[in-house]
Amino acid sequence: SCRQNNSSWISWFLGIKGHEYLCRVPIDYIQETFNQMGLEYFTETLQVILNPGFDSSLDWVFGDEEKWYGMIHARYIMSERGLDNMHQKYERGDFEVCPKLSCRQKALPVGPSGVWVKSNVKFFCPHCNDTHPHQRH
Ligand SMILES: [Zn+2]
Repeated sequence: SCRQNNSSWISWFLGIKGHEYLCRVPIDYIQETFNQMGLEYFTETLQVILNPGFDSSLDWVFGDEEKWYGMIHARYIMSERGLDNMHQKYERGDFEVCPKLSCRQKALPVGPSGVWVKSNVKFFCPHCNDTHPHQRH
């Protein structure tokens, strides 16, 4: 078969509709033992996440990758690099805008906790000082 090894698992995952608000957590950040502290995982899960030639149609997925990426992502965006990354995404307009027609200010994604539950992502409008649920998808 003609296997295409031109996309990493992370690139594939970030390309999924609805994942625009996620940052690309740098490989060196993920691999740093200190940053993994307290996050339990199977070696295979991390191997999938770090796979530079992931093919979503062929490669076996172990099931915890999304959750684990969500957890390391939550940790990453609290770091200096991650905050900077999120700020760039905000300025670029990667996140939703406030749903109030009179406002339409750029909003920031906020999670209720570090736990990865996609449907729980809400957006905070700094102008209205209010949060609203996911609108776009
Ligand atoms: Zn607003």
